[in-house]
Parts: sequence; C-alpha cells; structure tokens
Amino acid sequence: MFDILIIGAGICGTSIARELTRFKLKIALVDKENDVSNGTTKANSAIIHAGYDPKPGTLMAELNSRGNPMFDTLCSRLQVPFKRIGSLVLAFNDTDLKTLGKLYKQGIQNRISKMEIIDRDQLRNLEPEINPAAIGALYAQTAGIVGPWELAIALAENAIDNGAELYLNSPVVSINKVDKVFTVTTDSAQFRSKVVINCAGVQADKINNLIAPPEFKIMPRRGEYYVLDKTAGKMVRHVVFQPPGDLGKGVLVTPTVHGNVLIGPNSERVSRDDAIETTAQGLEYIQKTAQQSFTNIPLHQTINIFAGLRAEPDTGDFIIAESPTVKGFINIAGIKSPGLSAAPAIAEKVVGIVDSILPALKPNQDFIETRREIIHFAELSDKAKARLIKKDPRYARIICRCENITEGEIVDAIHRNAGATTVDSVKRRVRPGTGRCQGGFCMPRVIEILAREQNQEMDNILKDGLNSPVLTGMTKSEEIRESEPAFTAPQLKEVEC
Ligand SMILES: Cc1cc2nc3c(=O)[nH]c(=O)nc-3n(C[C@H](O)[C@H](O)[C@H](O)COP(=O)(O)OP(=O)(O)OC[C@H]3O[C@@H](n4cnc5c(N)ncnc54)[C@H](O)[C@@H]3O)c2cc1C
Repeated sequence: MFDILIIGAGICGTSIARELTRFKLKIALVDKENDVSNGTTKANSAIIHAGYDPKPGTLMAELNSRGNPMFDTLCSRLQVPFKRIGSLVLAFNDTDLKTLGKLYKQGIQNRISKMEIIDRDQLRNLEPEINPAAIGALYAQTAGIVGPWELAIALAENAIDNGAELYLNSPVVSINKVDKVFTVTTDSAQFRSKVVINCAGVQADKINNLIAPPEFKIMPRRGEYYVLDKTAGKMVRHVVFQPPGDLGKGVLVTPTVHGNVLIGPNSERVSRDDAIETTAQGLEYIQKTAQQSFTNIPLHQTINIFAGLRAEPDTGDFIIAESPTVKGFINIAGIKSPGLSAAPAIAEKVVGIVDSILPALKPNQDFIETRREIIHFAELSDKAKARLIKKDPRYARIICRCENITEGEIVDAIHRNAGATTVDSVKRRVRPGTGRCQGGFCMPRVIEILAREQNQEMDNILKDGLNSPVLTGMTKSEEIRESEPAFTAPQLKEVEC
C-alpha cells in the first residue's frame, strides 16, 4: 500500500513527488503517457515570471512570488538550465504606460523586488533591436527562463533516487475509496493508497469527477509558438512582453535557455483537451503581433512550431486543496500560467496539506538533494572531453551534428532512472534533433541506439506519444531483398515535427 499516489507527472506532480520524498513515505507517481512532462509541461513559454502579473491575494500571486526565488538553488542542485535574464513589458502609448503603472503597483502588492519603469533610452540600451515605437517598459530583473521538461525529468529522477516509484503508460480509469483506503485503477494495474493527489493538468476535472462531485471545470486554452534557430538568438536578450490583455500576458519574444528564440503564444479556447495542433490563423496572429515588439523578426529561421494547452479553471485561480467531500483526495488543478514558476512553492504547500491528513510526517534522513551527474559533452573543456573519451569511446561518436550530441550522452539518457524510451524523450533529455535539421540526420541513428539499448526491433521505436510510429517497414519487398540481401534499411515514414 502506498501512502501517496500522485496522478500526473508534469511539473506539478514531479515537484510534489520530490518534495514528499523528504519524508518517510511510500510514493507512487502515475502518468498515462510514456514519459514524464508529456502534457502542458513540455509546451509553454518556459518563463519563471517575476510575479507582478497575478491579481494580489490569489494563490497564483502568492505561489508565483514564493516560487520564483527557489529556482536558483533548485536548478543548480538538479543540473537544470536556468537563466535569470529579466523581463520587459513594452509600452507604445500613454494607455500602455498606465497599464505598466498598474502592473508595477500590483508587483509591489505581491512583494516583488527589483522592478522599475524605464524610458525609451534605457529600453534601447537593454534591447537594441526593439521597435523604435516603444516608448518605455516595465523592467523586472527577477524574471528568468528555464528548461521546463528538463526540470520535470530531473525532479522525477531525483524523486526516484529518493524512493518514489514511477509508473508510466498508466492511464487512471477509476478511483474508489473504502475504509479510508483509495483504490486507483489504471488500464493495467490497481494501486492502493492512503492519499491521492490529482495533478492531471487539463484532465484534472475528469480525475476529480471519478471520485468526487464536480467541483470545478477546466476549459483548455491553446497557445501556439514559433521556435527560431540559434542563429537568430542574438536578436533578443530579455523576455519581451507586450501589455497584457483579457486573455493573458500576450505574445512574447524571448531567448530560450539553449540560445534559440521563442515567439508566442496566442490564446484560443478549444473544446478538446488534446487539441495541441498548430493552426495557420494562430501562427499568423503571433507573427503579426510579435512584429510590434521587433520589426525585423527573422521568421525564415523558424525550425519548429508547437502548441500547448492552458488548464483554465472556471474558478479563476489555482485550486490547491483537499476535496471538501472526499477526505484524503487533494486537487492540484487549474494550474495555468504561472504554474511552472509556482511549482516549487505548490509542492511545499502540498506537503503542508499532506501533513494535516497523515499522522506526523517523519523526515527522510537519507534524502539526496542532487541528481546523478548528467554530462553535456559540448560544454566540456577539451581536456575533459579527452579524458571522457578515453574512459568511454561512445563520447567520441557525434550523433547530432547540429548540437554536437554524442552517443555516450544518448545511451546515458536511456539508462538513467525515468530513462528515455522514444526519439523525443531522448531529445528532451540530451537534445539530439533540437537543432537546425530537427532530427533529419540524427533521428535514424537515435532510433538505432534506442533499439539496441532496449533490445527492441527498430520499428517498435516511437517518435513521442503512444501512437507515433516512425518506421513502417522495409524499403523493398521480400523477393527483392532475397536477391539483394545486403540492403536492409527500413523506410522512414514522414514525421510531423
Ligand atoms: C501556452 C502556455 C504558456 C505557458 N507559459 C508559462 C510560463 O511561461 N511560465 C509559467 O510559469 N507557466 C506557464 N504556463 C503554465 C505551465 O505550463 C503549467 O502551469 C504547467 O506546465 C502545468 O503543469 P501540470 O503538472 O499541472 O500539468 P501537465 O504538465 O499537463 O501534467 C499533467 C499530467 O497528467 C497526466 N494525466 C492526465 N490525465 C491522466 C490520467 N487519466 N491518468 C494518468 N495521467 C494523466 C498527463 O499525461 C500529464 O503528464 C504556460 C502554459 C501554456 C499552455
């Protein structure tokens, strides 16, 4: 029997799992997907917001301002990329300047430090390429950028090192409670647990409704993005927003932690909770809007487009509480933006809730703060590279030439706990396929390595989610192959990037 069962291994579920492993608890982390972070956590702006935006007095405001300063220590302990680059909200006219004034005041109410309203010249100094029509900005120095899925993966790895158990490919289909014990049923197993924590993102209302009366509704809201090649990386230095509107913080232009440029999102209500396709209209809107911030955006350097779903709650604020009707069932729902920024603080808050449900939590004296070292070959000195290659020649074989990723790194990503099993799960851990060619050259090699290391046939290797085959069969028929036995390369199916 588990003490805690967490449904959903996004940034909330993994943060909570890790935080709870500081105590002597038997913890299960269950997700329907074949990797952690495969929901909204892999598709967002990746900003650690300063915290001036949420309405004072809300949970969003409280947990954003508490979460933001936790990122330096957390990311350095878990070897996750994080840069505190600061953010700018632009003003183009007097009305916008008034909005900046309101945001500044809200920031003060939310106890955010290091904010100032800057003029045109100061703005130009910080962002030389900015549209000359911008007359000022709200500058918040504490905003940052992070690798969101890298953080969730690192949190999951560390939670497992500290005793948590991860169950992927496990969609929860029913939850029952008899005599203070929950039985959570997936399509292939049953788990018994004293406490259940619902971190199911855009599906959190459906999970709640499996055991409790409908208490809230999640209305998915889609945001789409462009990713530009690193060669465009120098055009922007900060997270650059336009003044926020009714539908959120607006379209931003920002560097990513790996030196690309991210542009988006729009905000569109969708009826399906899996509507992560991009649309021509959405991308066109982003393109037009972003050009108000930077008039010369090199969109011809786009290397990828994607979309994510905000878990918009009908309550208007994060829902982080034990269900009023089912004792021991905790909802972490409606975690829209700034959910990523707030995640470490959400996890601390949940420990408090668990502490009020289970009798006196005992500290786990063996808790390890750091995760096993992860090597990024391209970032090593020449001497360190030579030493590593001598120890393991697989680090001498470059598989992804855009990002200089070696076979050694890919093999490590596969064999870590919470290890990669698909092409994109390797990409999220060590980045082959994130460069200019988007895997055009390295994907077949990554598939070969995955198949070899997992003792699988190559055509069993998936691109990403559960229905994403890459290979469909041999390029030639049986008869032809018999007469030409040397040729056995499988055919690559067209894959949507
Ligand atoms: C466009 C966009 C931009 C954003 N930008 C930012 C930003 O810059 N900064 C910021 O702080 N926040 C941002 N956010 C918000 C942030 O991304 C989310 O708050 C955060 O990722 C939510 O994490 P989560 O763990 O709650 O949900 P998810 O990451 O969606 O995780 C939920 C998990 O539950 C699993 N699950 C669902 N149903 C079941 C089931 N039946 N059985 C088992 N598992 C199940 C899913 O597979 C998934 O892995 C943005 C969001 C969007 C969409």
